[in-house]
Amino acid sequence: MEPSSSNTGFFQQLPVLKNQFHDDASLQRVAKLFLPASLLDHIGPETAQLGDHVLSQDIFDHVTDAEKNQPYLRGNGRDAFGNPKSELVVTEGWKRLQDFGFEKGVVALNYDTDYGPYTRLVQFMRCHLWGASCANTLCPAAMQDGAARLLKRHLAKQDSSSMTPTQRRVFQNAFDHFTSRDSTKAWTSGQWMTERTGGSDVSLTETVATYDPYPAGDGNPATPWANPEEGIPLGPWSITGFKWFSSATDSQATILLAMTQPGKGVSAFFAPMRRHNPSLVSATGRPGGTELNGVTIQRLKNKFGTQSLPTAELELKGMRGWLIGDEGKGIQEISTILNITRVHTTVSSLAYLGRSLAVAKAFALVREVGVGKGKRVPLSNHPLHMRTLSGTATEYHAMMLLVFYTLYVLGLDERPPSSPPNHTVTETSRAPSPPPHLVAPLLRVLSSLHKAYVCEHVVPLVFGCMEALGGVGYLVNAESEHLNVARLFRDACVGAIWEGTTDVLSSDTLRALKHPATGRDSLAALDWLVDSALSSSGGEASASIRREWASLRARLVAEDQPALLPDARQLVFRLAEIQMAALFVLDAVADPGPEVEAMCQRYLAKKGFAGAAAVAVDAAQGLRLDQAIVYSASSLPPLSGARGEEGQGSKL
Ligand SMILES: Cc1cc2nc3c(=O)[nH]c(=O)nc-3n(C[C@H](O)[C@H](O)[C@H](O)COP(=O)(O)OP(=O)(O)OC[C@H]3O[C@@H](n4cnc5c(N)ncnc54)[C@H](O)[C@@H]3O)c2cc1C
Repeated sequence: MEPSSSNTGFFQQLPVLKNQFHDDASLQRVAKLFLPASLLDHIGPETAQLGDHVLSQDIFDHVTDAEKNQPYLRGNGRDAFGNPKSELVVTEGWKRLQDFGFEKGVVALNYDTDYGPYTRLVQFMRCHLWGASCANTLCPAAMQDGAARLLKRHLAKQDSSSMTPTQRRVFQNAFDHFTSRDSTKAWTSGQWMTERTGGSDVSLTETVATYDPYPAGDGNPATPWANPEEGIPLGPWSITGFKWFSSATDSQATILLAMTQPGKGVSAFFAPMRRHNPSLVSATGRPGGTELNGVTIQRLKNKFGTQSLPTAELELKGMRGWLIGDEGKGIQEISTILNITRVHTTVSSLAYLGRSLAVAKAFALVREVGVGKGKRVPLSNHPLHMRTLSGTATEYHAMMLLVFYTLYVLGLDERPPSSPPNHTVTETSRAPSPPPHLVAPLLRVLSSLHKAYVCEHVVPLVFGCMEALGGVGYLVNAESEHLNVARLFRDACVGAIWEGTTDVLSSDTLRALKHPATGRDSLAALDWLVDSALSSSGGEASASIRREWASLRARLVAEDQPALLPDARQLVFRLAEIQMAALFVLDAVADPGPEVEAMCQRYLAKKGFAGAAAVAVDAAQGLRLDQAIVYSASSLPPLSGARGEEGQGSKL
């Protein structure tokens, strides 16, 4: 009997994470289902390299730095003599992670690479790998992506009445920065909607924009500059108000909402974060410099999670900006951004779950637990632990199918097959492709539906992975950052709040389905999706999914919106489960195997589409199946006998 000490006795071997591009069976399956085989071969090596890189020690060191040295306002917003001075300080770790994202094209890929309708899928496979290692730098990147998409839409309009040549130059300049992979040039964007009056409903916006062009006119050298080196003048609108939440406070530009006239509705504006001021003097007396463009950072928010992210309250006084589109049409403009930031939020949520599951899997391989009478087994050989993790893996896969299908439809919407193909992808994938007239109505529903369901359901599943690590799971493991599931849990919680809460998105899904002009098409698109996904499967489970959809559909058609509203969350969750069940069947039929079939069967049973899944004949077989679901058949852990029973094989 040797007593333990701080340096002697038992020490748990550290779990080792594997490259998730190879090891995440769900990611592999959705890639095979939704991407053409030749494209997957083409992008495989680079994506696998990213999978390695995001698990490197230098990345985790940056994460620890960004979390530990949180953003702050230098001098609490004052200089040495008490003059107001909004200077946000972010740590080096945060900056390096942001640079890494730019260089790996987590946004740029969608704009500088053309894989036709599959481009978004390839981009978001990268985001999925990066999400849990990026310390929230993907949040400003999401808004950067949304801003790029919005400006691209406006720049594509050729008629000169839509914007002046100077405005076009300003938008093109910003678009080039938003889509650059050069970290010295690339910009992120803010997205300022939420005010104290409410983020879910921005119609009560108290920020006011006044058209107040400089006397010299836009583009005249006498107009004050945003950036003289790039020849970018400040805009003709002067914006004053208060923004209650701004997450990308370190961004170089923003898209924001403001009122222009009473009763006109909110309008959307583009504004650079900084402006040139010739009267500024540097510490060494050099004249000229830049300052915030009429923005004062009132304070940084003290948050439960996303602690590396500089979320602030901002006061705007005479911020100069450019109107985007028509006055009063701000909600339509910002919805282009929201469609993108919502998928980013959902993919990040799944990235947290995928990584948390990877940590739980790795831990289960090295942690031994007692199973009675002095016997011990690794958790990976414990039937209950494996059943619990295989349940998580099954829910995760169902959500991956829904989200990656949504990304496929987003890709089809952005790059319809009828548009001139600049890409060389000639093969098609196994994903059912909606008829062109149903793409937009399908995307309209899926955009709200997938976020409402996934961001909410991921939270308890990430918590389950924390629990799978026991007490260590609850610790903020900055000393072994790759195992820090507690950080992922805290960060995952925000997904169901920002970019639309679950109730707001559930109501929005109903609105889409009940819309007098387009609701019918959205319902037809869902009919088409259920039909196509189940077309190769004639079993009882498929019939049950069809029946469930028919009954939910009948209620959606029969009742009016106010009657449906109190049940919106429940209806939308069920609708999501119907889509996921159909996609699960599609996946199991497209690429069959014992694990996916068992997962599918269990999913259908759990969600009430089929009778309880057949129980494996004996416990050892059941354990082997659960292990195969958790680890995938190719990387099964050895079936070890319980320690203390050497040589007798598993008795579990
Ligand atoms: C960390 C963090 C960062 C953020 N960053 C940004 C940012 O960069 N830019 C930005 O603009 N915003 C940002 N937000 C704000 C976020 O988008 C809002 O908090 C969110 O939209 C909810 O708005 P609210 O806080 O005003 O709550 P409210 O809108 O007042 O909602 C309160 C409650 O009422 C419910 N509710 C409201 N309306 C309805 C409805 N019609 N039907 C049913 N239920 C309803 C909501 O579900 C919620 O439960 C951030 C928030 C957080 C937490």
